[in-house]
Amino acid sequence: MTTSAPRIAIVGTGVIGAMAAWRLAVRGARVLAFDSYAPGHDRGASAGESRIFRTVYKEGGSYVPLLRRAGELWRELEAVSAREILTRCGGLTIGAPEHPDLVAVRRCAEEYGLAHEILDDSAAAARFPQHRLDPGEIVFLDPAAGVLRPEPAVQGALAAAASAGAEILSYHRIDELTETGGGWRLRANGETFTADHVVLSPGPWAPAVRALAGFPIEVRRITPCWFAARDVAAHRPNRLPIAIRRHPDAGFSCFPVLDGVAVKIVPHHLGFPALADPAELPRSVDAEFVRAASAAVARLLPGLVPAPVRIGTYAEGFTPDDHAIVGPLPGTANATVLTGFSGHGFKLAPVFGEIAADLVLHGKTRHDIGALDPNRFTREG
Ligand SMILES: Cc1cc2nc3c(=O)[nH]c(=O)nc-3n(C[C@H](O)[C@H](O)[C@H](O)COP(=O)(O)OP(=O)(O)OC[C@H]3O[C@@H](n4cnc5c(N)ncnc54)[C@H](O)[C@@H]3O)c2cc1C
Repeated sequence: MTTSAPRIAIVGTGVIGAMAAWRLAVRGARVLAFDSYAPGHDRGASAGESRIFRTVYKEGGSYVPLLRRAGELWRELEAVSAREILTRCGGLTIGAPEHPDLVAVRRCAEEYGLAHEILDDSAAAARFPQHRLDPGEIVFLDPAAGVLRPEPAVQGALAAAASAGAEILSYHRIDELTETGGGWRLRANGETFTADHVVLSPGPWAPAVRALAGFPIEVRRITPCWFAARDVAAHRPNRLPIAIRRHPDAGFSCFPVLDGVAVKIVPHHLGFPALADPAELPRSVDAEFVRAASAAVARLLPGLVPAPVRIGTYAEGFTPDDHAIVGPLPGTANATVLTGFSGHGFKLAPVFGEIAADLVLHGKTRHDIGALDPNRFTREG
């Protein structure tokens, strides 16, 4: 690194800012990465034991090349951090063949020639007895999908960034951000910092960042629940892939046992309620939510004890079209925004880190991010 290398300030080191710090630092930038809390904290969007990684994407085929590159970078991060982060246990989408998610994954797999299997209800009952299917339902298997571990991922990326020279400033909330001639001035804990370029990756705190006030980001609560497995061995990643379950009575994502005790489900059918501010994230839920989540488990996951052993609450920022906002920040020079990941940003985080580094250092990227253009939400868009 030379002192003439650009000085880049990153605001927010959840998974997105952590990956940007890593990819920028290894490419020679002088990185200063700020966070109000410490790496791996549980108040934002990047914690809670597990995340889904999929390669066949119901959200749109344009993500397929990004997912491929993300998969390579997850492996690279595992190698440099000497931690297991992504376990390729496979991934299931389960439901009626005409459900839009099943239709979308089949279409994506066919269009991009991606490996997959389709099981009818009796084949699924033999292979994945952990899930109860109704007659006529099917299972779509994405064999290259897997489960990610969020806390080691964030900490590993920041450790790799620090080894490449980045300064990681935990408990530094940026409370003032001012564009100066050709750069930026930032204030945290009463101290002033300067940078040539800023990367804004504040996750669900985006509405509180004045420079991002024009973006329609809604903060919502997501509430995973853990249910003890009766037969733990049958619910570990070598036997239970990650899953997205679609059923008339319930919809949820489902994660294998990683803690030696419990399967995690995220009940989608119970909603992701809006929050005024991540600071107001309630740490508990009402009894009705617990009863409804337990009923879904009793109905569709017969190998689990249908009463949660633990519940977590997390905040995430959603955009109106459920696609992230990634690109140069309109109306400013030398600022890049990555926010609004709408409940599906984790698996792609390393490639978004690479994209951030491309945009900061070269003003462009080879990756196709047209659908994520910040201008679609601004007057110019
Ligand atoms: C419960 C849950 C389950 C999910 N499941 C999946 C899944 O299975 N697969 C998947 O791909 N995605 C999933 N997602 C989505 C994914 O986890 C998020 O899209 C991703 O973690 C967003 O990361 P982020 O870095 O943008 O936000 P965050 O992790 O919230 O990070 C933002 C950081 O910015 C910091 N910050 C904010 N303002 C300031 C400031 N002024 N100064 C300094 N620091 C600041 C915050 O402290 C925070 O650390 C899930 C999300 C949740 C909540």
